[in-house]
This record gives sequence, structure tokens and C-alpha cells, in this order.
Amino acid sequence: MQYNVAQLLKESVGSKRNYEVDYSPEERGFNQPVSGKVEFIHTNRSILVRGTLTTETELVCSRCLISFKYPLTINLEEEFFSAIDVGSGIEVSIPNDVEGFTIDKHHILDLTEAVRQYTLLNTPMSPVCKPDCAGLCPQCGKNLNQCPCQCKI
Ligand SMILES: [Zn+2]
Ligand SMILES: [Zn+2]
Repeated sequence: MQYNVAQLLKESVGSKRNYEVDYSPEERGFNQPVSGKVEFIHTNRSILVRGTLTTETELVCSRCLISFKYPLTINLEEEFFSAIDVGSGIEVSIPNDVEGFTIDKHHILDLTEAVRQYTLLNTPMSPVCKPDCAGLCPQCGKNLNQCPCQCKI
């Protein structure tokens, strides 16, 4: 999920780019598929990225302990600041009173870390594989979704 924003940074404030994100985890080190649309806007201090992405993360059910795929929708809105001025090539210091991500020295804006953080924020604390998951039998440990056990509790 890397985008070269050198050209956008050279354009006037207010210039935009729209991208379709279609990331499959086989390509690189990030193990979630990500798809959706993002808009990059050149602001007077940064590139503002806005968009809605859908992804899927693997969680472990808090009741029956199986892992399952959990679909997530992320409403991304983040500022990305340049580490280097695109015109002069001089390093710029990122204002430290703002929250945001960094665009690297080659003007590559990478969405991976932002998606990772938004995924964590949107992941439930006690996920369940399905709303009516029966969980494990507290006596024999059998997964009660698969078949009832013989314990009478
Ligand atoms: Zn479960
Ligand atoms: Zn049992």
C-alpha cells in the first residue's frame, strides 16, 4: 500500500488524487487483505488521506478458542507529513504537536502502518466467532458448536 506522492506534493494546495486500494496479503509482509477507496489531498502542511477500507483480520474466539476471520471497515483519516521538501530536497522537521505519519525521503506514502493501527483500534476485546457461539464445555473442554458432549451440566 505504497504511493509515490512526489507529483501531488508539487501541485498546488487542494490538489487531489483518488486511488483504489486492492491489496492482497501474498504480495508483501502485511497479512491482511485490504480494499476500498482513498483520497489524497494536498493540504498546506501535509497530505491528508481519507477513505473507507475494508479488511479482514484473524482473531481467536473468546468462547470456543477457534480462529476465525473477522471483517472490518476502517474509516481512515490521517495526515502524512513529508520528511523532505519535494522542491528543494531539504529535510523538513515534522511539527511535533500534531499526530500523523511520515512520508519517506523518496516521497513514498505508505498506508500499511495506519491500516494496522486502525485495525487494532477497531478489533473487539472479546471477539466471538458468531453471536450464538456455544463455547467450550467447562467440564470436558469439547467445542459445543460441533456437537453436544455427554456431560450433564
Ligand atoms: Zn466461538
Ligand atoms: Zn462436556
